[in-house]
Parts: sequence; structure tokens; C-alpha cells
Amino acid sequence: MIESNRLTEKQYKDNFSDIHPPFENKTAAQVDANRCLFCFDAPCTKGCPTSIDIPKFIKQIANDDIKGSAHTIFKSNIMGAGCSKVCPVEKLCEGACVYNLLEEKPIPIAKLQRYATEKAMTNQWQFFSRKAAAGKKVAIVGAGPAGLSCAHVLSREGVDVTIFEKEKKGGGLMTYGIAAYKVTPEFCEDEVNYILAIGGIEIKYEQELGKDFTLAYLKKNYDAVYLGMGVGVARQLNIPGEKLEGVVDAIRFIYDLRDKGFPSIPVGDHVAVIGMGMTAIDAATQAKRLGAKKVTMLYRRTQEEMPCTQVELDIAKLDGCEIIWLASPQRVKGSKGKVKQLVCSKMKLGEPDTSGRRSPIDTGETFTLDVDMIIKAAGQVPYEKIVTKYKLDNKYGKITINEQCATNIKGVFAGGDAVNGGKEVVDAVQAGKDGAKAILKFLKIA
Ligand code: SF4
Repeated sequence: MIESNRLTEKQYKDNFSDIHPPFENKTAAQVDANRCLFCFDAPCTKGCPTSIDIPKFIKQIANDDIKGSAHTIFKSNIMGAGCSKVCPVEKLCEGACVYNLLEEKPIPIAKLQRYATEKAMTNQWQFFSRKAAAGKKVAIVGAGPAGLSCAHVLSREGVDVTIFEKEKKGGGLMTYGIAAYKVTPEFCEDEVNYILAIGGIEIKYEQELGKDFTLAYLKKNYDAVYLGMGVGVARQLNIPGEKLEGVVDAIRFIYDLRDKGFPSIPVGDHVAVIGMGMTAIDAATQAKRLGAKKVTMLYRRTQEEMPCTQVELDIAKLDGCEIIWLASPQRVKGSKGKVKQLVCSKMKLGEPDTSGRRSPIDTGETFTLDVDMIIKAAGQVPYEKIVTKYKLDNKYGKITINEQCATNIKGVFAGGDAVNGGKEVVDAVQAGKDGAKAILKFLKIA
């Protein structure tokens, strides 16, 4: 049965508390900082999309210069605090740490980054100020990581920025699309406010491109436009029964969880989650943490091809989620309009497809799961309608840009998930920096 309020207040609190606890004290942070070899060629920095000078900020922690350390991080990544909580560091900086070659535990870079940045945010240390007014106005669509990072760089150069955000809060996927035990809604709000503290950035909330304003309006009223609206439309399964009550989108499920509070979110007894990306993991683990008795994840390929990292898979397994590999949803069966069963095809692997991964082939055999809730996490698709409507060059809805982050429309730039179709938060932050740099050049400010 799908129901809300399954747990006690304490159970909700425990289940959604921080999955990566911070250092207990200064000594603990310094012990790990002092393990760092401060490598000259710093493979960890090369593994960071925003190129944070990692050995430098770790050395500053070792020397108890926390302010300096936070400055080093924020200089390259203004969302360095949030990234320290949500980055899949095992495939980025920590995955590149030389200690892996020595078959020893890598330096806990994310935990150290969190140590410095959280101190800065708690103490409201501000490291950046605005230059004198440049006399230019830029409009940004989307207050997610790409939009905020772009806005911050522009504001530092004295540009007046207005961000148009369709939601009630800023932060984008960070605020609405990531498991609450990784980043709390309160933290996301604090991070947005920390970024806005520089001044010169106004966010107009609940303003959606194509609905509340047009691209022509932005072009007419601003000197340049940056499109950083991300991707937000869930990919449909296109199978019979998909519209039955109890079939939900992972993005909507996670969004509601963050927007409405845990007890009010209904969850089934037996939940099937379709997909094996980070969003699927976040949906599955949170369904379990909301009180679902059984959560089964289904993926049409094998562990070798899964898009999530091993660390994420381990979290799902530790939470008691079951995994069925080589299974593809074929049909949802219901009774009285509600989900009752999910029929799946058994798959096998064939030749590699365009993604380079071996493609799944239907064996013709099926199996059936008794479920009362299905969460679809088969990826997201770009805002193709909007992109086509405004005649932006695109590839299947992903906006095409040149090396200057410019679209085919003069003065309109783009970046982040709207361009790449969906990557990590840290990639979006870098895209925002690149976009700002290109806009400054276009406006002849830098
Ligand atoms: Fe320190 Fe590892 Fe980076 Fe070397 S690779 S500087 S040991 S964190």
C-alpha cells in the first residue's frame, strides 16, 4: 500500500541525517591533511573539472590557515562547499590521488574541502567583492550551479545580473534533485545566500522561460543572455500501464521529498526503481529510508555498464535495495487504476552501441514483480520544445555552442546541463565560469 507518515520523527531524522559526517575536530582534519604528499603535478587537481588547487588548500589546512584554504577552493569553485558533499569524488579528485597507485586509501579530499568551506560559510567569511559598476546588464536563465557560478564571476567584474528561476528556490538540481542525506535543503539555501552575498545579483523566482517571459524580451532588455536552465524533463518508458496510479518520475519524487518534507511523501511497500544512474540510486535509497519494505532496482545492462559509481551502488546495497541486472520494463499491470505488477523482459548483452557500451537485447523471456509503486529514473531529456521554439541550434534538444560558449543567436550564451545533457554539479560550475568569461569578452569588459 502506498502511504505517507510511515516512520516516527526520530526515524525520519536518523534516516536522512548526513551520510558523510564531517571531521570531529581540527586534529582529525590536520592528521589527514598531513598525509598529503603535496604532489607537484597534482593529479587530483587535474581530476577536478574546476581545477581547484588541491595540494595548496590541503597544505593550508595542515598549517591551520582555514581562511586561506577556503579562499583557494572558492576562487576556483564558488560552490565548493556543496560539491564537497555531492561530487562523485571516487571518479574525480580522490580517484586520481596517487595513493591509489600505492594501493592505499586516497586523501579524503572532499572531507577536507568540506571542513574548510563549511567554516567559511558558518563564519560568513567573504572573499570576493564587486568591482566598480561596469554599466552592463546580463540575464541568466536558471539559478542552478551553472547560472549561479556564471552570475558570481560576472558580478565580481561589476556587471548587474538578473537570474530568472522557474522554481521557488535557487540551487537547481542541488536543491531539488539530490538525496536529502547528501545535502539538506537548509544547506542549499545557505549556499545560495552565501553566493548572493557579493551583491549585484537579483533572482526573480517562479519565472519560466517561454511561459512568463521570452528570449526576445531578454535580448531586448539585457546586454547579454546566459542559458543555464539545465535539463528537467523525465524520460518516459513508453510502455503500457505507465499512467497507472503509483508510477512516478524519480525527479518528481526527489523534488517532492525536498520540497514538502519526508513524512508527507507517500511510498509503497514494494517499490521498483527503473534505472541505475545517480538519480535512480537517490530515489531507491530514499524510498527505503521513507519506510518501503522492499526496493528493487532494475537495469537493462550489467554492473559493468552502469552509469552510477561503485560507491553509489554500495550505498543502495547497504540500504538493503535489491538489484536485478539485465532486466527491462515491458508492461505495468494494475487493478482499479493502481499499480499491481511490473512485467520485465530478461535481457542479454550484444554488440557495443554508439555510447561504447554493449547494448541490451531482449531474450524473449519475461518475469513479473509484485509492486505497488514504480519510480522511473531512466534519465532526463533536454527542453527540446523551448530550444526549437527559439530557433537555437541544438542536437536532440541539447543547445549547441561554440568554443566561446555562444549559441547561434548573437549575445546569447549557454552552458551546463542544457548543453551537455546532464553531468555533475562541478561540471556545471565550470561551465558557468567559462560562460561568464566569454560574456565578459563579448561585453569588452575583460
Ligand atoms: Fe595530495 Fe593525493 Fe593530490 Fe597528491 S594526488 S597532492 S597526495 S591529494
